[in-house]
Amino acid sequence: MVRIFEQVLADLQSVVGEEWVITEEKAIERYLYDETAYGVRPPPAKDIIVVKPGTTKDVAEVMKIANRFKVPVYVRGGGTGLVGGAVPTMPGIVISLERMDRIAIDVDNMVADVEAGVTLGKLIEESERHGLMFPPHPGDEGATIGGLIACNAGGSRAVKTGVMRNYVLGLEVVLPNGEVLKLGGKTIKNNMGYNLAHMFIGSEGIFGIITKAYLRLYPKWSYSATMVIPFESRVSAFKASKKILASGLTPLALEYFDRRVIETSARYLGVEWPVKEGEYFLMAILAEPLEDVLYIEVEHLDKVVREEGALETFLTQRGDEQKQLLKIRSEIFTSIKSETFDILDTTVPLGVVDTFVEELVSIERKYGIWLPLYGHVGDGNIHVHVLKYEGFSRELLEKISEEIYSVAISLGGTITGEHGIGYVRRKYVRNLLGDVWVETMRILKRVLDPNNILNPDKVLPD
Ligand SMILES: Cc1cc2nc3c(=O)[nH]c(=O)nc-3n(C[C@H](O)[C@H](O)[C@H](O)COP(=O)(O)OP(=O)(O)OC[C@H]3O[C@@H](n4cnc5c(N)ncnc54)[C@H](O)[C@@H]3O)c2cc1C
Repeated sequence: MVRIFEQVLADLQSVVGEEWVITEEKAIERYLYDETAYGVRPPPAKDIIVVKPGTTKDVAEVMKIANRFKVPVYVRGGGTGLVGGAVPTMPGIVISLERMDRIAIDVDNMVADVEAGVTLGKLIEESERHGLMFPPHPGDEGATIGGLIACNAGGSRAVKTGVMRNYVLGLEVVLPNGEVLKLGGKTIKNNMGYNLAHMFIGSEGIFGIITKAYLRLYPKWSYSATMVIPFESRVSAFKASKKILASGLTPLALEYFDRRVIETSARYLGVEWPVKEGEYFLMAILAEPLEDVLYIEVEHLDKVVREEGALETFLTQRGDEQKQLLKIRSEIFTSIKSETFDILDTTVPLGVVDTFVEELVSIERKYGIWLPLYGHVGDGNIHVHVLKYEGFSRELLEKISEEIYSVAISLGGTITGEHGIGYVRRKYVRNLLGDVWVETMRILKRVLDPNNILNPDKVLPD
């Protein structure tokens, strides 16, 4: 093994240059983990070579070397994944696309031409600098375009603006054998053959390495408002959320959380949660190109929620205040991360979100625990943190997670609406998706990656 590694190392260095191939223990450490909760994250392998290609051609050459020696390859974007997808679980190569971060904004066509290593933060910034915007906002701005597409990421705005899949016009992909596949382009419509790009979107890096994408941009919304709507009862909050969506309004984001979880986040940030009334909250963000339209929507939404028993709405149009509210909501994850055994992103059909949450409350009561739950109520995607409760064994924590999954499934939902399968959810795949799904995926994998070297132990069950 050591001799093979020495040869692989030498070949990699000759392709990308010595300075972009890393093996020192300290330097590779940050490539061994992602943001998966400590309780469930897979242990990384020790013998890892990190390679940082600068071009698509380099990526292709790296894959050819890996095939020659049949060495596993793990693709890494921003390492913000929550299911161990980027963790190198076998000795092999980690390809980090961080150097491939060129971006060009085509204003006339409203398209971003981006390399896979561009971060979400950079895409947002560059689009806005050109008077445009990239509408989706999957939580962590350190995520890269390659990772976001590979995971078909969603985020709080998905309720109005859709998920990554809705923005990909074209892709460049390096196949596991080192061939380069170019798909689509800058046109909005393209029916020239079956749209293979969609096979790579959401494939979690097992079918190919995304090196470049054409992403659709939109004109900026000039006016936005954030409404925090308090309720005394959880049931009313959920009823109101359904009424909002049924009223024909589609907020940019429609989030749910309770006082305990939001105040935990505010405390963590050293700020105060400004809404004094109510125990349960909906947070609606509205954004429109015209101010009058925004006002009409705010008024309409307020009327709808009042009919469902909402207390006084906290409304702000000030940019700094809106940012602060969003920051408190976004940091819920980080504020309880160190106590978290696993973070679930169960998703259920819109009509049963309230039933789902009631069932979760029963699980809380049964075990005498707190299950922080919050999230994108506008698309049924509820994040649940299973914490490391004192005296609870790993088996018991897994049992609790599985009870939550069972409730979601029994209501016609899924165990993941955003984060994917990666490494940690593989054990549920066969049961939940069925033998035919597994076999079909295996056939595709075998055709594209006969040596099974790309993310070999991810997504598909053992
Ligand atoms: C605080 C926080 C908030 C988050 N909020 C959201 C949210 O709202 N919505 C949401 O959907 N997710 C969310 N996530 C999860 C995460 O940001 C997404 O899954 C994101 O898509 C991961 O991108 P990444 O670049 O960090 O990928 P990584 O973590 O580096 O990799 C994830 C997977 O993609 C593969 N991959 C990476 N790059 C490529 C490539 N170029 N080609 C092929 N495969 C590749 C990897 O092999 C791995 O399997 C959040 C995470 C955190 C930490």
